[in-house]
Amino acid sequence: MSQKVLLQEFTRPAFEEYLKEEPNPVAIIPLGSIEQHGPHLPLGTDSYAALEISKKVACRTNSIVVQPCWPGYSPHHMAFAGTITFRAETLINIIIDTVESLVAHGIKKVLILNGHGGNAQIAAHAARQARRRTGAIVLMPTGPMGGNVEEMLQKIDVHAGAGETALALTLFPDLVEMQRIEDFEPTAAFAPQVEDLRQADDCDADIRAMLVMAYIGDTHEFTSSGIYGFTDPKDADVEQAEEQMEDRIARLVKLITYWKTIDLP
Ligand SMILES: [Zn+2]
Repeated sequence: MSQKVLLQEFTRPAFEEYLKEEPNPVAIIPLGSIEQHGPHLPLGTDSYAALEISKKVACRTNSIVVQPCWPGYSPHHMAFAGTITFRAETLINIIIDTVESLVAHGIKKVLILNGHGGNAQIAAHAARQARRRTGAIVLMPTGPMGGNVEEMLQKIDVHAGAGETALALTLFPDLVEMQRIEDFEPTAAFAPQVEDLRQADDCDADIRAMLVMAYIGDTHEFTSSGIYGFTDPKDADVEQAEEQMEDRIARLVKLITYWKTIDLP
């Protein structure tokens, strides 16, 4: 990756040249978290993932990556060491201030690439506020949900399980310590009513999934390892993660490329 895309690596004249030469600049704001990710994944997993994907997308669209913070909104992981959480209003202000600054320099198209579920609604709210205050178009793409909901309910591969481990092994393998989970057994154990909801066959899976999500509390209440789900991180399918990541990157590149052709209001 030779092209410079991280704003902090530019000199001022180099950034001025970028603005002069790029008629449709887009800034990508990666968001993530600093929170426990089981025994084997780095605390910054979500932020590293969002940053690495942002860099790849920026390279292919001549965009700029502006990462204003490492932590996100993670109160539900605070019982585990290493978690740093911002208040919702802190995160909202960071996003708005960042967009406002970008707009002051002429960048009015901003894409928020969020790598942490806990930030989703807060960042979406901040995106709307930033749009209202600055006139910038702030986009927060969501991937196609897809998949089989019943299968998702059975695996609940939400946090630090096989899926996230595969992505970490794809993007930052040097930070993953697989030896820490050699004897891993899933530790997730939900309250009886949540378990019943997961297994029930008298109601649609999407309705049961909605209820399960509403019942689940803080992470330490249902898993001692910090791994939230029933998959084994050792089953991480790196090849599949690579393919899914490439698909996601291609989709984001397509989105930005098309967006560049649309004038600002
Ligand atoms: Zn994560």
